[in-house]
Amino acid sequence: MALETIRDQPRAVELLRRALGGERVAHAYAFVGPAGSGRMTTARAFAQALLCETGRACGRCRACTLAASAQHPDLHVIVPTPPESNPRGARTIRIGAIRELERQAALRPALGGRRVFVLDEAERMTGESPQAFLKFLEEPPVGTVVILALPGVRAVPATVISRCQIVRFQARGAGQTATIVGEALALLQAARGEGAPALFRRTDRLDRDRAEALIDGCWLLCRDLLLARAGAPAVLLSDAERAAELTAEAGRWTDDDLLAAIAICRQARETLINNVTPRLTVEMVVGRLLARAA
Ligand SMILES: [Zn+2]
Repeated sequence: MALETIRDQPRAVELLRRALGGERVAHAYAFVGPAGSGRMTTARAFAQALLCETGRACGRCRACTLAASAQHPDLHVIVPTPPESNPRGARTIRIGAIRELERQAALRPALGGRRVFVLDEAERMTGESPQAFLKFLEEPPVGTVVILALPGVRAVPATVISRCQIVRFQARGAGQTATIVGEALALLQAARGEGAPALFRRTDRLDRDRAEALIDGCWLLCRDLLLARAGAPAVLLSDAERAAELTAEAGRWTDDDLLAAIAICRQARETLINNVTPRLTVEMVVGRLLARAA
């Protein structure tokens, strides 16, 4: 994916584009913003551009193909994991993951001139991890680029954040809310009309950010349907222009089913944070929602 296709974070994209276009690429970036704001999608797009043979995420070279399918040997994505002894325990980025990062970074890049490390939910570094990571940031090997995704600048020690170039991500605005509700409605209707194959087609290659957005969309859609059932004016809906369509859809639901559907979405959002496959989560939500609607 090219950075240019990320349209809802123009300031972040512009800053990164300038870095790629000749200004210095920093050793470390902190992508700061709420979960679901596109931090990880942007991090992957930026990483692809950094690794691309042409330097602009051409989408055609070997590096781009490998990066897009998460198979590039110089692109490392680190996510918090539960303790090995307890799969339901708290997900953290432990010292072992930081040691592995150090080990990989010390190796020469396998394909190009860079190694890129992305730490999702970097605020989940625990125990000795932040200190070890700070040591690493103080003297990163040449060609290393680290991207931290975190919710706020105070989510990691100040000594860590001060070594990163901060890139801010905005929470979704009203226009984007209308878009994700529209997407959720389209997904629901496609799955209802064409069955499971339509759902599988539309959720192919779904990443975590996209899955979060779709589940938020389902959640907001259910809220809109409740409002529509109560006869609320169109202006209260996420997308007033879709009022007629939402009213028609609302006719298929009862209030109780919508409240249950909202609970399903809320639960799915939590499971998704706990590292469950994004695609399965979205398919489960749509399946369970459809089972409730008439
Ligand atoms: Zn390329």
